[in-house]
Amino acid sequence: MKNIAIYSLVILLFSSLQFQQIDNTTAKEKTVQALPPTFITLADIPECDESGTFPQKNPLPWWRYATQLQYSCAVYDKDNVAWVMLIFYEFWKDEFGDSGGNVKRALNNLQIVWGKEALEVDNIYSLNGTFIPKARVCGLVKGDYEIWVMSEPRMSDTALVHELVHIALIHTCGSADPDHEGDGFPCWTAEHSMLIEDINSLLYEKYNL
Ligand SMILES: [Zn+2]
Repeated sequence: MKNIAIYSLVILLFSSLQFQQIDNTTAKEKTVQALPPTFITLADIPECDESGTFPQKNPLPWWRYATQLQYSCAVYDKDNVAWVMLIFYEFWKDEFGDSGGNVKRALNNLQIVWGKEALEVDNIYSLNGTFIPKARVCGLVKGDYEIWVMSEPRMSDTALVHELVHIALIHTCGSADPDHEGDGFPCWTAEHSMLIEDINSLLYEKYNL
């Protein structure tokens, strides 16, 4: 009995030490702390204003200058969006690295525009590189720091992570690679497509997003 008590105390001590360590390192350089899957916001980050006008541009926590243009406060909670970006960044770093901080910088300056319905666009490519003269899309890169994404009940069902890959490629490879795994442009590989699937599965299964 005594052994069990000591054992649990050791575990308790160990976990509280770990907690402190995480707090110390994040608090030093950030005013926002990650606590999966949400953020403790010490800085004053305004909430979406239900009675305000739409589309409404709101800042995201954690990512210094990142914003989202919302057509409704329900799409999406700023913590969840910032969390998806953080998961994306961790996966990207593990797989491709980010020693120059280019991807982080891009995410820090990202603007996400949320759309209600699919968008009709000209001259795009499918994931395997097939050219399509006219199509309805659920995600689009609008600039070096701007993406448009059609909303779904779950963020893991949207093209958000897919568009984040395009943004990361712009800032690391020099091209968004519009034809994805096709041969017309460099940059996008099968690993990038796999990364998107892995991240979206995790978002759904672990964080219910
Ligand atoms: Zn794409």
